[in-house]
Amino acid sequence: MTALNLINVTLQYPDGEGLMTALDTVNLAVHPGQFISLVGPSGSGKSSLLAVAATLIKPTSGLVMIDGVDATALREKELAALRRDKVGIIFQQPNLLASLTAAEQLIITDHLRGKSLRAAAVRANELLEMVGLADCAKKRPHQLSGGQRQRVNIARALMAQPKVLLVDEPTAALDHERSASIVGLLREVCDQFNVATVMVTHDTEFVPLTDAVATMLDGALTAPVPAMETASAR
Ligand code: ADP
Ligand code: MG
Repeated sequence: MTALNLINVTLQYPDGEGLMTALDTVNLAVHPGQFISLVGPSGSGKSSLLAVAATLIKPTSGLVMIDGVDATALREKELAALRRDKVGIIFQQPNLLASLTAAEQLIITDHLRGKSLRAAAVRANELLEMVGLADCAKKRPHQLSGGQRQRVNIARALMAQPKVLLVDEPTAALDHERSASIVGLLREVCDQFNVATVMVTHDTEFVPLTDAVATMLDGALTAPVPAMETASAR
C-alpha cells in the first residue's frame, strides 16, 4: 500500500476578485521507505503541497490518502487524530519550546497523545540517541547549535512512529556541512523506520541521497524520476 497518495489534488486560494491555483491536478504516490525530493522555483506550490499532504489544508478537489485512509473525507476530530498518529512534519525553523530540554520537547508530544510519561521518556532517549544527541537530552534550545536543534525537531517528528514524514527546506538555515548531515540523517530515518518521506529542497546537491525527484512548476507536479539519473545528468 502507498503510505501517501495524492490523487488529482487541486488547491485554490482566494486572490482578489478571483482565485489562484496553487496546486493543479497533482498526483503523487509515496511508498513506505521511499524518499522523494520536491524541487521547483519559489512560489511554485511546494509548501502548499506539503500542507495538503499534512492534512493542514483541505484541497479544493481531489483525494489525500494517508496510510490507506482518505483524509479529505474525515471530520476535524478524526483528521486531527490521523495527523497526530500518522504524519510527521518538519519545517525549516525548528519550532522548539524555549523552556524545555531536548528530551522534554519529545516527551511532551507523546504525553499529549495519551502515552505514559515513562514510555515517552524511554522512546525520547532512543530517538535522541538515533539522531546523535544522546549527550544533549538535558540541554535547552539556546544551548544547542542550529544543526542540533533541527535534529531535535526530526526526533520529535518521529515520536508517534509516523507513516509519512513531510520536510520543508530542512537545511535552509544551515551551513553546507550541517545540511549534508541533516539530509543524511533523514535518509537513515526513512530506511530505518520505513517511513514515506517527502522533502522540499532548493539544494539539488542533496537530491542523489533520495530515491526520486519530482519538480513543481506553477502548481503542476512532474512524475518523480530516479534521483540517480538527475545526478548523472549534471
Ligand atoms: P513554494 O513553497 O513553492 O514557494 P507556496 O506553496 O508557498 O510555494 O505558494 C504557491 C503559491 O500560492 C504562491 O503564488 C503563493 O503566493 C500562494 N499562496 C501560498 N499560501 C497562500 C495563502 N495562504 N493564501 C493565498 N495565496 C497563497
Ligand atoms: Mg515553500
